[in-house]
Formats: sequence, structure tokens, C-alpha cells
Amino acid sequence: MELKSLYHDLIVDHSKTPRNFGNPTECTHSASGHNPICGDEVTVYLMIHGNTIEDVKFDGHGCAISTASASLMTDAIKGKTLTQTHALFESLHQCLTASADETTAGTDLGKLGALEGVKQYPMRVKCATLAWHTLLAALDQSDEQTTTKKVTTE
Ligand code: ZN
Repeated sequence: MELKSLYHDLIVDHSKTPRNFGNPTECTHSASGHNPICGDEVTVYLMIHGNTIEDVKFDGHGCAISTASASLMTDAIKGKTLTQTHALFESLHQCLTASADETTAGTDLGKLGALEGVKQYPMRVKCATLAWHTLLAALDQSDEQTTTKKVTTE
């Protein structure tokens, strides 16, 4: 129970005071995501050098879950390699789509584990994964592209 309320506090904290929020003056990759079910919109900006995400920012507006998820994501991936980032998304996705009685033990999500409770509300899973799908869309861009790619989670 204590852990649950800790997780709840973490989500409230990140939704009220999002980390890495804002539009950077420069970035190498970016994409915008839209979740029409809830109305969440998020844009992710990445500064990638070599194989490492050196900086990441996001902006947009949406519900508490989508904002907290984007904020937690930016904290989690900053300084990570692209391989580590993809692995993190896989783990989170598995955690959020596993059925309630399925164990996700062995997956160390760190603070991202705060989002696990969302899987009880299938409608909100899209809110929690929007920033991640937007991130993947940004990573899919070739280095030459500078236009912002649009993704919709449907
Ligand atoms: Zn939402």
C-alpha cells in the first residue's frame, strides 16, 4: 500500500511539475503525437549525438497520466543509448499490456513502474504510451529530416 501511494505521489508530482518541459532552441529529432480518445497532445524533441540521447524535452497538453508519463520518460531516457531506450520501451509496454495476473517480475522499470497501475484502465494505457510512441516516431526520422512528424495512437 505504501508503495502504491508513493507511485501515486510520483505521478501527481510529475503531472504538476513536468521535468524537461519546453521547446528547445535546437534539436536533431522531433515528433508530435495525438491521442484522440483523451485529447492528449505531446511533442518530443531530441538531441542525439552518435548513439546517445544527450538531451530530451517535451511540450504539449493533456491529462495527468500523459503529462506524467512524458515527464518520467524524459527523465528515464536522458543520457541513454538508443538501444537502452528501445529496451526500456519494450519493458514498459510489456508491463502495461500484461494481464493483471501475469507477472512482470524481472523487469526493472525504476520510476516508470509508477505507471503500472494504469493497466487496470485500458483507456488510459494510450495516455501512458503516447509520449513513447511519439519518441519512437522521432527516432525513426532520418538525420536529414527536419520537419516534425505527426503520429496518432490509433
Ligand atoms: Zn490522456
